[in-house]
Amino acid sequence: MSDIIQLLPDHVANQIAAGEVVQRPASVVKELLENAIDAEATSIKLILKDSGKTLVQVIDNGKGMSATDARLSFERHATSKIRSADDLFSLHTKGFRGEALASIAAIAHVELKSKQDADELGTLIAIEGSEIKTQEVTVTPTGTSIAVKHLFFNIPARRNFLKSNTVELRHIIDEFHRVALAHPNIAFAMYHNGSELFNLHDSNYRQRVVHIFGTKTNEKLVPVEETTEVLKISGFVGKPQFAKKTKSEQFFFVNNRFIKSPYLNHAINAAFDGLIKDGHHPIYFLNLTVDPKSIDINIHPTKTEIKFDDEHTLYAILRSSVKHSLGQFNIAPVLDFEYDTNLDTPYNYKDKGAQTPTVEVDRDYNPFREERSFGKQTTAFKKQTPNNWDSLYVGLESKGTRDAQDFSQVEFESEPENVSLFGDQSSHDTAQSTYQFQNKYIISTIKSGMLMIDQHRAHQRILYEGLLKSMTVKEAVSQQLLFPLQLHFTRAELTILKQLQSDLEATGFVFSSIDEKQVEITGLPINVPDSEVSIILEQLIGDVEQEVPDSHFSATDLLAKSMAKSLAIKTGQSLSNLEQEHLVNSLFACKEPSVSPTNRATFITLTIDEVDRKFM
Ligand code: ADP
Ligand code: MG
Repeated sequence: MSDIIQLLPDHVANQIAAGEVVQRPASVVKELLENAIDAEATSIKLILKDSGKTLVQVIDNGKGMSATDARLSFERHATSKIRSADDLFSLHTKGFRGEALASIAAIAHVELKSKQDADELGTLIAIEGSEIKTQEVTVTPTGTSIAVKHLFFNIPARRNFLKSNTVELRHIIDEFHRVALAHPNIAFAMYHNGSELFNLHDSNYRQRVVHIFGTKTNEKLVPVEETTEVLKISGFVGKPQFAKKTKSEQFFFVNNRFIKSPYLNHAINAAFDGLIKDGHHPIYFLNLTVDPKSIDINIHPTKTEIKFDDEHTLYAILRSSVKHSLGQFNIAPVLDFEYDTNLDTPYNYKDKGAQTPTVEVDRDYNPFREERSFGKQTTAFKKQTPNNWDSLYVGLESKGTRDAQDFSQVEFESEPENVSLFGDQSSHDTAQSTYQFQNKYIISTIKSGMLMIDQHRAHQRILYEGLLKSMTVKEAVSQQLLFPLQLHFTRAELTILKQLQSDLEATGFVFSSIDEKQVEITGLPINVPDSEVSIILEQLIGDVEQEVPDSHFSATDLLAKSMAKSLAIKTGQSLSNLEQEHLVNSLFACKEPSVSPTNRATFITLTIDEVDRKFM
């Protein structure tokens, strides 16, 4: 029999390795930034085009490479960072596998320029899919520049697998945050499609956190410092009242390397136990320094997991030092001598001139016309003839919640004259057809029994469909604000807002400016009270952040869902009879009345048979 086993050619082996190392543009960003840090750079620039799909370039002022090293750096298992397996136990660098550049060069067009300080001239190497295209001498500053173009050009399946630009950029920003937070003494800048997203000078840790997450963050931070024999902890936790609905501001670094550790995260949660509301997550930025011998980071190629020798001790120390800091902060404000007082003035109004208020008068307003609205959340419902909407329900009898989904098949649109949202103004019949139960459910009788409607979910459905419609036809009405609203956000949040801007405008938002620190809003959708704007936008940003891993990301849909959730009347709000009826009418005028935008049942039914049976 003939032999059938062969060694894989290098470029194939590299492509396979790339599958592990490079999942998306953000992975390239991480590897290149880490190489620049390992090369002892003090200033690092990241340049991106199309969320890294077209270009990821990292330019550093580190120690550079000789011509031979530059060529070797693209070989697999070529590294200057370890020489023997023993070195693995005393790692002081980010990289050690010697895999990243070889993998990246296998699946992209790479151009490297590098020069060492002692040399007059540097080296230029161009590689496409592991194939060297050029190697020549070039004029270039000391340090290294690596440009990675057309990622996955030779693996269309991987390329198609990439998410939208918003999502990919979000992943890149996350990596950038992690690296920049771990190295406050290095200056970082990030540019995307020609505009600057971050420009971080070298600073202390607190300033770095604040520069990334916004001036408002400063007042939220409580320092944590602890030195024991096995572990040194330094950094900050957020005051309990600033806990967030997302985990987006939770960072652990071990020996300057970002790590994820559910176990240590649990220790922090334990320290915050009883101090924060359910469903909220503490903010933390914590650096742990341990003996490199006591950890094993070699267990995962992307290296965010880590194994500690003595996890239990770390857990206990971490929990008690966070608790201690929180306690201290409750008793007396903590003095921080490194504190940068410039960060103290969060808002800068002094350069702003006075604005002439504009007044808008509704000339059609008639104070004697009877009109009601839902408490403080004015909604677009108008009075409507109490057409017996239960007729709409005929044919929809279901046995209970489980079947609720099926109702979506039924055409409600076919009876427009009965269900118009903006009914005529004829007088109202006072006979009561609905009843509010526990300020939470609306009960109504129908021919075959009764309906119990969840007021919050029902209103979400109504608002959701309305918002989707105004976003697609772009005919939303907005109310002009007397005084423009100025809201502050972090850069990352502003990036998300900018991407949603046109959709938000389609719902009636009017932005007069969005710059790198704040947004100014001069108009709002008619059903959005200005007191709620910041809550709505924060919720929206949180939702987008959480949605990131989801492949079915649609900005419009997400925006409509998020706004509907924020604006819908809440459980616990008492509704007048008229309001209850409007709600029910509008619900059944929806295309999919039976489920909320997040696919939960909006109502359940109880047929007369079911009631009868209970009495048997
Ligand atoms: P690793 O970082 O695991 O060693 P890489 O494939 O990322 O492997 O890099 C291979 C080698 O190329 C590194 O060990 C280093 O010697 C060199 N190198 C890569 N990037 C840079 C850079 N920005 N500056 C100087 N040397 C670099
Ligand atoms: Mg590396």
